[in-house]
Amino acid sequence: MGKTSSFNKQKSDEKSIARERIIHLFNEAKSADEEYADKYVQMARKISSRFKVRVPKEFSNLFCRKCSSYLSPKRSRTRIRKGVIIKYCLKCGNYRRYKLK
Ligand SMILES: [Zn+2]
Repeated sequence: MGKTSSFNKQKSDEKSIARERIIHLFNEAKSADEEYADKYVQMARKISSRFKVRVPKEFSNLFCRKCSSYLSPKRSRTRIRKGVIIKYCLKCGNYRRYKLK
C-alpha cells in the first residue's frame, strides 16, 4: 500500500534527523561549559527516548546514565582494570563498566 510505505519513510526520516540532532548536541557539549554541556546531554537523551533512537556508541560513554551530566575528564574518574574500564561520575557517584576495545 502506498500510504503505508510513505508513512514508514517519514518515520525513518524522523529517526535520522533525530540521530543527527543527538550527534550535534554531543558535539556541542564537548566544547560547552559544564552547565550547558549537561543541558545538551539532557536534550539529546530526550530526543533519544522520544524517537527511540539510540545514542551513538561513541557518545554513550560520555554521560552519566543516572544524573545525565556530561562526563568531562574533570567530572569523572576512569579506572582501567584487566581490560575493563570503570568510569565514575563525580557528581552522583554512579559508575559504569565497559570493555576496552
Ligand atoms: Zn551521575
